[in-house]
Amino acid sequence: RSMPVLSRRALSVKAIASEPRIEVPSSLKGASAWSPVTWRSKPALQQPDYQNRDEVVKACEEIARMPPLIFAGECRTLQQRLAKASTGDAFVLFGGDCAEAFSQFSANRIRDLYRLLLQMSIVLAFGGGVPIVKLGRIAGQFAKPRSAPTETINGVTLPAYRGDIINGPEFTEETRRCDPWRLVRAYNQSAATLNLLRGFSYGGYAGLSRVSQWNLEFMKNTQEGHAYMDIAKRVDEAIQFMIACGMDTNMPFMRETEFYTCHECLLLDYEEALTRLDSTTDLWYGCSAHFLWCGERTRQLDHAHVEYLRGVNNPIGVKVSDKMDPNDIVSLIASLNPHNTPGRLSIIVRMGAKKLREKFPALIEAVQRSGQTVTWVCDPMHGNTETVSGYKTRRYDNVRAEIEAFFDVHDKMGTVPGGVHLEMTGDNVTECIGGGASISEDDLNSRYHTHCDPRLNAEQSLEIAFYVAQRLRQ
Ligand code: PEP
Ligand code: MN
Repeated sequence: RSMPVLSRRALSVKAIASEPRIEVPSSLKGASAWSPVTWRSKPALQQPDYQNRDEVVKACEEIARMPPLIFAGECRTLQQRLAKASTGDAFVLFGGDCAEAFSQFSANRIRDLYRLLLQMSIVLAFGGGVPIVKLGRIAGQFAKPRSAPTETINGVTLPAYRGDIINGPEFTEETRRCDPWRLVRAYNQSAATLNLLRGFSYGGYAGLSRVSQWNLEFMKNTQEGHAYMDIAKRVDEAIQFMIACGMDTNMPFMRETEFYTCHECLLLDYEEALTRLDSTTDLWYGCSAHFLWCGERTRQLDHAHVEYLRGVNNPIGVKVSDKMDPNDIVSLIASLNPHNTPGRLSIIVRMGAKKLREKFPALIEAVQRSGQTVTWVCDPMHGNTETVSGYKTRRYDNVRAEIEAFFDVHDKMGTVPGGVHLEMTGDNVTECIGGGASISEDDLNSRYHTHCDPRLNAEQSLEIAFYVAQRLRQ
């Protein structure tokens, strides 16, 4: 069934490319008293404790003078793609580090994550027969919510590490102090990262004729690497066949790919400084990333993060754990997407497999009953974190089990699984236990590089992609 599937994908890619732009309802313009600063009058959780507010103002003024990192038109295209995912006509792949780090910034690491996301999207598109929307947790994913404001080691208590945009991970008083000028450094790293990503996406690297070259070196002899090469070979054959039929290899879908960025909308000083008015539509956009999401810890209806996000016109998301109540999810959705615009809002569910089977159906039902359109996304990472021999880790089997539960619940409810959201890296790390490579508890200390949550390595990520592809095919 490979040939019909491939041609169906090619056709749908072409179809969505020629669609008209979504018209923004005029009622949204100036509908209520929102501006990029209205969040300031609401309680803002998880914000840094800066000692010198004057320096924060100066750093943010500097960022406010910088160009936007993304453009409003790109956000509108992404929103159309996400709308397709809400009906099963596309599927979304979110992936990247839990937190980007200044010390791990390198062109090779960006390339390897990008390449792995391309590989996974080929596996998913081939299996699912739908276009894959690629969203990197990259070029801005720096700020981290913490469960405790301080950390104590050997009787010494210091402020918690909140991500490189705020302070440093080393356990010293000096690095744990919140430094406003890290905001500017994070902006600059994001700009350089995006520049490379745009080069990869539109400069030929992501062309479909290169599918077989995306296999990472260390993956070549793994089971996943072989399975990938089988698909790559079939893609090459299909392309050769299409060329023989007269297909033009200069078509955009042959030469380039769309790639979008996302991060948690956490640090509101930074987001405000990058909020810009779009000259085409006269609407506000958060220009730090194409897609912003509200974390599980900051999604209170009457607080600052929801206030900020309701006013920007980007596609947005909300993380939802088992603590979410069916009535509250309906109110939250109504506040963030009052016009029920398809693609505007993704609900990113993260509960762990067992709780997901218990609690998710009631959320879906409430949303369905209220007639709200959302794109349902599975984050199988954040409900599955545990500590083993002093390392924060996750078990591959639990990650997979949550995805399985997510698909099973949607099957039962007759609703649509729209995407997956993974913490992953193209590096050959040993941070999550299990998977085909059988990383054991004893391996955790060998290549544990994350400064925050544990990530799936390339092999584990590809293995997840094969599983999801299988579920999409069913
Ligand atoms: C995250 O995505 O890294 C995160 C902190 O998620 P959550 O808000 O779901 O805990
Ligand atoms: Mn995380």
